[in-house]
Amino acid sequence: MKTIGHWIDGRAVTRKSGRTSPVYDPARGRQTGEVQLASAAEVSDAVRAAVRASTDWATSSSSRRASLLFRLRELLDAHRADLAATVTREHGKVLFDAEGEIARALECVEFACGIPHLLKGSHSAEVSTGVDVHTVLHPVGVVAGITPFNFPVMVPLWMLANAIACGNAFVLKPSEKDPSASLLLAELVQRAGFPDGVFDVIQGDAEAVDALLTHADVGAVSFVGSTPVARHVYEIGTAHGKRVQALGGAKNHMVVLPDADLDAAADAAISAGYGSAGERCMAISIVVAVGAAADPLVEAIASRIPDVVIGPGDDSASMMGPLITREHRDRVRSYIEGAPSEGARVVVDGSTDALGDGFFLGCALLDRVKPGMRVYDDEIFGPVLGVVRVSSYEEAVALINANPYGNGAAIFTRDGRAARRFEREVRVGMVGINVPIPAPVAWHSFGGWKASLFGDAPIHGPEGVRFYTRQKVVTSRWPDAAPSEVDLGFPKNR
Ligand code: NAD
Repeated sequence: MKTIGHWIDGRAVTRKSGRTSPVYDPARGRQTGEVQLASAAEVSDAVRAAVRASTDWATSSSSRRASLLFRLRELLDAHRADLAATVTREHGKVLFDAEGEIARALECVEFACGIPHLLKGSHSAEVSTGVDVHTVLHPVGVVAGITPFNFPVMVPLWMLANAIACGNAFVLKPSEKDPSASLLLAELVQRAGFPDGVFDVIQGDAEAVDALLTHADVGAVSFVGSTPVARHVYEIGTAHGKRVQALGGAKNHMVVLPDADLDAAADAAISAGYGSAGERCMAISIVVAVGAAADPLVEAIASRIPDVVIGPGDDSASMMGPLITREHRDRVRSYIEGAPSEGARVVVDGSTDALGDGFFLGCALLDRVKPGMRVYDDEIFGPVLGVVRVSSYEEAVALINANPYGNGAAIFTRDGRAARRFEREVRVGMVGINVPIPAPVAWHSFGGWKASLFGDAPIHGPEGVRFYTRQKVVTSRWPDAAPSEVDLGFPKNR
């Protein structure tokens, strides 16, 4: 069985003993490997390597960093198929979906290739007689990234590309559920020519995370995962003096107004609700059907569900793969089973023809869902779409705004005025107008509101550059530019 270890200072590191966690092929329900779970001492080894590397890396020229990023971009492009296959093997998502993840990951590197431009500071000449001020951006030092299972290539690259472009060393703690992609990334980063130690990977669970959050040499932490862990990471990390961005879970609503193209809305609900088996933070989990839209929309969604082909991610006929673990699949199924006792109507129950021992579940559709039901209140993170019926646009927006999560929300309508109102009035970080998964491209930043983001910094794009740098403001005067004098007052500038 494969042993999946760490990547420290430019080498694969496996230990002979210590805790491990099983890694599965979710499509077949078989264990394929075991991942080593780092102790605090192993985390310290990785951070030490990163500290050593960060000194020279921080002072390397931005043009050198950009040229290495261009090489990394080419290597990632050449290895799209390997990366996608690695994701599918351990995550289970279908190959074409994994390829989409790699494409979006590449975008992040392409954005970071412009780092000489992105790190341009600002300059004010002659703010007082003979005095100039300029602002420069310095790297933070060593930064850590803690990532979820559902995007094992894209989410690490949301962080890694900008972090190292800005001159930091980056220590990644990937999900223990699908850890192999992180090692393939590490090899490609090394082949691109980045110095050893600039990118380190430490495999592990909560113990490794807590070691990173409390390590004196880690200056910043980026986290993406569920809300309870995001809150923990934010609280412990900031209590230890680090800057922290912690992106949490979601419950994304899609409002459908009666004037919408209901066929397009039903297609979108199917794609965004069941794509990646609903294991996306931008998945639609609640359809908010307004007024007369409800009956035809529920029927249109239900009629499309039998066409969703469920099967192993490496079978080109499959449209939706398995869930990540058996326990998670059973937990998701328990929501569907419990829905009638809460008053929801099960339109499609998620049962599938037997697919061996894989962690499969079919698409489920629940109608007449309401706040206060577990299926509404909890992030289910599986192929379960709930329909909430409301009577007006105002009720739809009030529902979304009262929800504790605020990642994304979409509206489907032909009414430009309603769409503009929605954009302004909805309290979430990412809005889609006739677009069900409004995940921003890499040159905009990604982040939710409320319990979907702790800290004030969205991830990647321009906000990523800001998060991974510290500004320094320099005020300068040269002795021969202006006469000097003693003045004990606060500088008035004249
Ligand atoms: P998770 O919170 O269980 O795990 C995320 C990371 O935290 C992993 O690396 C894991 O090892 C670590 N971890 C888990 N429990 C921990 C603990 N008690 N203490 C410290 N560290 C711990 O999330 P997941 O199941 O891997 O991923 C799914 C979740 O991630 C969903 O809630 C989804 O919405 C969210 N997500 C959010 C975004 C976003 O951009 N907001 C993107 C992707 C996924």
